[in-house]
This record gives sequence, structure tokens and C-alpha cells, in this order.
Amino acid sequence: MSPGTPAAAPADGAAGGGAGGEGGHDGLEVRLTWLGHSTVVLDVRTGARATRLVTDPLLRRHAGLLRRRGGIPADVWRGSDAVLLSHAHHDHAEPASLRMLGPVPVLTAPETARWLRGRGIEGRGLGDDEWFEVAPGVDVRLVPAVHGDRPMPHRPNAANGHLVRVRWGGRTCVVWALGDTEAYAAMRETAGLAGAPVDVALVPVGGWGPRLSGGHLGPREAAQVCSEAGARAAVPVHWGTLHAPGGRWLPPGWMDAAGLAFGVETAARAPGCRPVVLPVGGSWTVPVA
Ligand SMILES: [Zn+2]
Ligand SMILES: [Zn+2]
Repeated sequence: MSPGTPAAAPADGAAGGGAGGEGGHDGLEVRLTWLGHSTVVLDVRTGARATRLVTDPLLRRHAGLLRRRGGIPADVWRGSDAVLLSHAHHDHAEPASLRMLGPVPVLTAPETARWLRGRGIEGRGLGDDEWFEVAPGVDVRLVPAVHGDRPMPHRPNAANGHLVRVRWGGRTCVVWALGDTEAYAAMRETAGLAGAPVDVALVPVGGWGPRLSGGHLGPREAAQVCSEAGARAAVPVHWGTLHAPGGRWLPPGWMDAAGLAFGVETAARAPGCRPVVLPVGGSWTVPVA
């Protein structure tokens, strides 16, 4: 099957490198590359410094029993300075992928961090209001996620999202990675936690089958959440990538449906939010005011 998916907003091609080159926008630039499902590489430039972050890295063809459509992702994740891990479900926490990233901090809930350290991975648990400085001007903290519908007996069941706050040269850029979550009232306070508006939300809109289980957002709920949190732009994730083995009986086109629907729902329900529907491997540079 082809991994290609129409883009509702222009993607700007292949990912750039995380090191070297000219800084733009007064030396602050945040460029993101969606590698499928919830894996997003954030290339942050602050002056001459390049910092790379990656969310929920799935870097191989399989994630447990789940299969990836298309080839393995491009290796633009190499050289990441930190990992942002939302929870330990198999479609987010894949120990083999985490080891491919080398000994970098994996920023997550304390319970999940302990589980990682027991597997030789550098889990770094963050407290409720703790900001972790990845590099000067580049800080990460956890935010809540409500995702308790599918508890696992052999892995921790904590769940969180992340805020990435980049401050440089008097400008600020905020990225909100929601992780897996249902809507909750305190989402309206996300910008308050960041101390600045959310420039882009990485928002889950689907799953790895045509039906969503509880504890997830569909395209409509995701658009509503982006509106309530005041996100200026949103990249849909958690769609279009993974499927169960087999699956020939599933309705044709289901893998592409959620991302495209998110673009439509956002136009209707979140007029202040720009949907940026990327193909797998597509990149976009966040406009910083
Ligand atoms: Zn999950
Ligand atoms: Zn998931």
C-alpha cells in the first residue's frame, strides 16, 4: 500500500538536518517531521544551537503485533537529544526503538521511567510541575492525559502529554504533544502551564483500526480540544500508519480517513486553528509570532 496521503496544508518536503546551517526567525526555528503514528521529530534551532527531540519513537517496521504501512521511517531521528514518551502502550513505547536512540533521557511519568530503567533505557521521571532543560532555552514538562481504558498487566499504566517551550531572542514557541488522551476540562489551562499560547498541537485523531476504543480522541473531538486550548495550529497524529496483522476485511480507505476528517472538522469547529495534515515523512516549520 502507498504511504502517501493528501495534505490539507502544504508540507515543506523532506526533513532538514538538526545541526549546522543558518538560523531563521531571529534565531528561533521549530521544524517538525511526522514519522507516522505518534512519532514526531522536533528540530529546534536557538541561535547557533540545534536541538532535536522525538516523541513516542516507533522506528521499526513492527510495534509488537502491529504492522506499519510503508517502509521504515527515515532516520531523521538520529542524534536526538531527548525522547518524549507519553505512556507504555505498545504503539508508543517500543524498547528496541528506544535503544536505537542511544543513552539520551526519556522524559516521562516517574512510573514509566522506572519501568524503562529496568530495561536499560534512560527513563527520566518528571514531577507534576517540573521543567526539564534539554538545552538553553529549550524546556520540556509533562501535562495530564486521561487514558485508562486499556490497562496492561505487565507494563505501567501512567499516561501524560508534554509541553515543549522554546524561548530565544524574546520569542517563544510552544508545542503541545497530547499523547493518548480523551478530552478533559483542564486542557483549557494548557497555555497557562506553558506561560504562552500553544503554537502547535500534536493531536491524536485516530487509531490502528477503523474503530476507536475509549480514552482516545476522534477527528471531531480533537478539533474541539484544539479550539478550547486555543492552539494556533494542529498536526494530526495517531492515524494512517499502523494496522493489525491481516486486516483485508477492513473497509478500504480507513487508514486515511481520520487525518482528512480532522482537517474538515477543524475548519468547522476550530476556526482559529490551522490544520496541518502531513503525509508520513512530511515536515512543517512552525510559524513563530
Ligand atoms: Zn495508548
Ligand atoms: Zn496509542
